[in-house]
Amino acid sequence: MTQKLPVLVTGGAGYIGSHAVLALADAGWPVCVIDNLVTGFRWAVPDGVPFYEGDIEDAGLLARIFAEQKIGAVMHFAGSVVVPESVVDPLKYYHNNTVKSRALLASAVQAGVPHFIFSSTAATYGIPDVSPVAEDCPQVPINPYGMSKLMTEAMLGDVAKAHPLNFCALRYFNVAGADPQARTGQSTAGATHLIKVAVEAALGKREAVDIFGSDYATPDGTGVRDYIHVSDLAAAHVLALEALIAEPARSLTMNCGYGRGFSVLEVLDAVDRATNARITRRMGPRRAGDPDALISDNRLIKATLPWVPRHADLDTMVTHALAWERKLGETRGG
Ligand code: UDP
Repeated sequence: MTQKLPVLVTGGAGYIGSHAVLALADAGWPVCVIDNLVTGFRWAVPDGVPFYEGDIEDAGLLARIFAEQKIGAVMHFAGSVVVPESVVDPLKYYHNNTVKSRALLASAVQAGVPHFIFSSTAATYGIPDVSPVAEDCPQVPINPYGMSKLMTEAMLGDVAKAHPLNFCALRYFNVAGADPQARTGQSTAGATHLIKVAVEAALGKREAVDIFGSDYATPDGTGVRDYIHVSDLAAAHVLALEALIAEPARSLTMNCGYGRGFSVLEVLDAVDRATNARITRRMGPRRAGDPDALISDNRLIKATLPWVPRHADLDTMVTHALAWERKLGETRGG
């Protein structure tokens, strides 16, 4: 039986982090959160979960948390996630994602924390030559966001060789949906991700959805992505933690996706099915840097963890995203 060590979740008030907090707590793990609340929300952290408002580069605060909470593992979600912003302001991304991850790692090593789980991204692959893309494909990011995450992967690899710490880097594909019980969801204003944009349009928060290109080498000409439900992703983190504890000499780097893709039009059709209405589509030009298709080869995670996706159905994902978007409108003034 795995010993349940307290887990520190950085960015635990944000979209994916708050789902990880729920997954950990639901599985009986003691959990606490650090978040600077720049893009996260205090209400997204459940009552009873110790919460520290602050920055992961604050070594004094981290030393206090590690000691006070007797932290046995870190799940690191804190960071900046908007790809176009990373192009305009690369130094922000190298600071928030790379420099601050270095500081957090230094604090973890200093405190002797033995396990570290990192939210990496398929953006580290850039525009892969092959689809599905496997973990050993070349990593050639095409934007500072992807590079800032790749640099943290590199640090983790080196740190794990030099110090008694093992890590798991999970490379997320397109994360979407919300907690099936609608306890948390994607809440940040000004969303750019397709499913979030589409449910906002379905609820009248936007006029239409712009389709970024219809001349891709895909069956219907629109971009194809491997959408993964955020709760399945959160569950993978809990299983990754158990794997790190079970084999302290082993580190892991794994794709997190379902290994299949949907086009932009298929996503919009799914939202229409869920609302029984029709979102206005506006065909537009391609967005810079978008690959035709980005689909995970997920054989490694399936072979390594007892991970069984529970919400892989696109309609389920969209239904959960819609339910959260409605709740956000009603109770959070979103
Ligand atoms: N997309 C779109 N309209 C939007 C947002 C996204 O057509 O308003 C397309 C985008 O070009 C890509 C897919 O939807 O093919 C997923 O984009 P998203 O921004 O959600 O994630 P990304 O794959 O860029 O990480």
